[in-house]
Amino acid sequence: MKQYFQDEHYMLQDMVRDFAANEVAPIAEAIDKEERFPLELIPKLAELGLLGIPFPEEYGGAAMDTLAYTLVIEELAKVDSSVAITVAAHISLGISPIYLFGNEEQKNAHLPNLISGKYLACFGLTEPEAGSDAGGTKTTAVRDGDEWVINGSKNFITNAGFSGVCNLTAVTDPEAKRPGGVSVFMVDPKTPGFTIGPPEKKMGWRGSDTRALTFENMRVPAGALLGELDVGFSQMMTALVGGRISVAALSLGLAEGALQAALKYADEREAFGKKIYRFQGVGMQLAEIATEIEAARHLVYQASYVKDHGGNVVKAAAMAKLKASETAVRATNMAVQVHGGYGYIKEFQVERFFRDAKVLTIGEGTSEVQKLVILKQLMKGL
Ligand SMILES: Cc1cc2nc3c(=O)[nH]c(=O)nc-3n(C[C@H](O)[C@H](O)[C@H](O)COP(=O)(O)OP(=O)(O)OC[C@H]3O[C@@H](n4cnc5c(N)ncnc54)[C@H](O)[C@@H]3O)c2cc1C
Repeated sequence: MKQYFQDEHYMLQDMVRDFAANEVAPIAEAIDKEERFPLELIPKLAELGLLGIPFPEEYGGAAMDTLAYTLVIEELAKVDSSVAITVAAHISLGISPIYLFGNEEQKNAHLPNLISGKYLACFGLTEPEAGSDAGGTKTTAVRDGDEWVINGSKNFITNAGFSGVCNLTAVTDPEAKRPGGVSVFMVDPKTPGFTIGPPEKKMGWRGSDTRALTFENMRVPAGALLGELDVGFSQMMTALVGGRISVAALSLGLAEGALQAALKYADEREAFGKKIYRFQGVGMQLAEIATEIEAARHLVYQASYVKDHGGNVVKAAAMAKLKASETAVRATNMAVQVHGGYGYIKEFQVERFFRDAKVLTIGEGTSEVQKLVILKQLMKGL
């Protein structure tokens, strides 16, 4: 990957690969089985600087580029998607909106704590009736003196049970045409009226934390408003562009992990007196998926480059997320198939990979939504 990488990228990649092998791989199966959030990894990730890769040093970050961040998520996902999404949601959806839109006081209050892993951050956009239609927010925030009073709910919020701050959207101008009139509030989950639901029972990502949130007459100070009033939808969409690149990186890593497992197994397993990769039906699947993964890799690294250097990052991120997530679903399906009956048994990591893949075509915009985003850019001539 010489066309994309500099020395610092190779060094970071090696470091994360070691961390994933030594700290994540040994617990990956257990956290999936026990549906346990691996809280013990957060200080270790922070110590290596992995929670602050794209943020300036003044807040404790590593001041590296988006490609570096992409590589971190990719390497973690080769081993465990739950840990990868925990980090990706924290950085792209939790920290980034505060970094991009917060004032200095808000940034100083949260960024050093978030980057040092003192607490995590979450992103509350989705509601029971507003998923793909993310501008259809029903949660309201009404100004009362120096406070806002928030009522409503959010669904499927990653890291919600372990966050010290949650970025939430709420309607602040009921008369405005949606998605206008929505604002973002940075809320401490300990605020009275903030209720965190139990962890969702999930098909995959079982070591990641996903919960519903409800807000009942929750009073937050005026200073909890993130950036400008009534522009929250566009703030969240900006954060989601970065988030989509990180989910694309996660998808790429998971697809690579699945391919490696399938290659190894196809080289070990024999049937009809020969290694199974020698059967064209198996070997050609491996070759096809490897080619799909390389195509996804270029889109993911390209989107990372465009984010830092200019260009149509909305289109690049949507294309990368669409291609990489669909490839991850195909690659993990192929890996289970190549493992035969053993692929269906929990001792083999491809069974977990297969379950972890499906959400990638759903979260941070479904594949259908990515196509709508791409089409909109194309029709604008961009
Ligand atoms: C594990 C997990 C973690 C998540 N983490 C977060 C988080 O941290 N923060 C957060 O805010 N959200 C989070 N989400 C929510 C996620 O982003 C939404 O589930 C997703 O955007 C889809 O919304 P929905 O579930 O309401 O589905 P819907 O919007 O109801 O979609 C249902 C189906 O209809 C299709 N559809 C809808 N509209 C169109 C259209 N116009 N054209 C074509 N097809 C369409 C969709 O593609 C989908 O196939 C998470 C979800 C999961 C499962």
